[in-house]
Amino acid sequence: MFAHEEVVIRAGVRTGLPIIIAVHSTVLGPAGGGCRVSHYADWRDGLTDALRLSQAMTDKCAIAGLDAGGGKTVVALPEGYTFTAESRREMLHDVGDVVHSMRGRYSTAPDVGTGPEDMAVIKERTPHVFCTPAELGGSGDSSPATATGVMAALAAVCACLDKGAALKTAPLKGRRVGVLGLGHVGSHLVRRLAAEGANIFAADVDQARRQLAGEVGATWLTPDELVEAELDILVPAAMGGLLTKELVPRLRCAAVAGPANNQITSPEVARLLHERGILWAPDDIVSAGGAIYAHSVELRHLPVQEANARVAEIAERLGEVLDLAEQDGVSPYFTVRELTRTRLGR
Ligand code: NAD
Repeated sequence: MFAHEEVVIRAGVRTGLPIIIAVHSTVLGPAGGGCRVSHYADWRDGLTDALRLSQAMTDKCAIAGLDAGGGKTVVALPEGYTFTAESRREMLHDVGDVVHSMRGRYSTAPDVGTGPEDMAVIKERTPHVFCTPAELGGSGDSSPATATGVMAALAAVCACLDKGAALKTAPLKGRRVGVLGLGHVGSHLVRRLAAEGANIFAADVDQARRQLAGEVGATWLTPDELVEAELDILVPAAMGGLLTKELVPRLRCAAVAGPANNQITSPEVARLLHERGILWAPDDIVSAGGAIYAHSVELRHLPVQEANARVAEIAERLGEVLDLAEQDGVSPYFTVRELTRTRLGR
């Protein structure tokens, strides 16, 4: 079934690159969602990504209580395609023109392959853009707020692992926590985990990230070793789609909670995790810190401290969902689907 309100696919007038914008829902408010610039074997794979990620964004906003809908931009680069400084600017202007043509029904933001400086270039063509640098009036890099949200979520997970204990101030002290992916969010996470005295394990396909692992006293593993390690919490902070039918039987962690979007590849995977007694914290809730922060600062004009307080509410929100799931004897995956359906009036 076609679940989206609108999908725009346009060849960039300057670059000819396929610019894909999917608006899944504006039921709760204008759609927001990041701009992914990534390589694909076929541009249609980029379309699939935009459809999937915009739908996830609708759920993320709904469960976070934001008056915003879900959208996504994907610029699908052919394999091997590289930018010059000039062609990158042109691509961003192409994106800005397509966003602008949607007259505020959708606003873009950074995602994999883009950052606040790119948003500044897009802003030269449209005002419908979040997370430009602070000097341009935006809320800047979203990854520190996303990491704040993940830390709040990890506190709720610890309380649940301790059989419904109250939220503690340093719940991660001494816990074995494995972070997969030390990129923008993962690098903030390992530093904060170190400050809380966690026993950190880390992996990344990029060997250059090993230095950071050393700095925070983390044990460096290969990605395959990390996902199979005996851990209290596995934190997926790389790409989506990690949790598959094949992987779940190999996991030896008590819980999985991290910022990577769309971790679960099918409802069956959620059931498998539940059957194995592995607590899974829905990524729609865990990864929402950046969106909540940008929304609070840029749309609601809240002071930074209050915006951070909104992000920290992720701990209570996740705790409630985990409790509900436990009462109903189902995976939190299904609890979140039910709650978002209710909020969206679907
Ligand atoms: P990033 O691109 O900065 O970092 C990802 C890291 O993962 C990189 O260091 C990369 O080398 C590594 N990686 C890629 N594939 C890997 C693999 N197979 N095994 C191990 N490591 C691998 O991305 P980010 O901004 O840190 O985001 C991480 C995840 O969180 C993404 O799924 C993103 O969609 C999601 N997310 C990010 C934000 C944000 O504010 N940045 C917000 C919500 C969700």
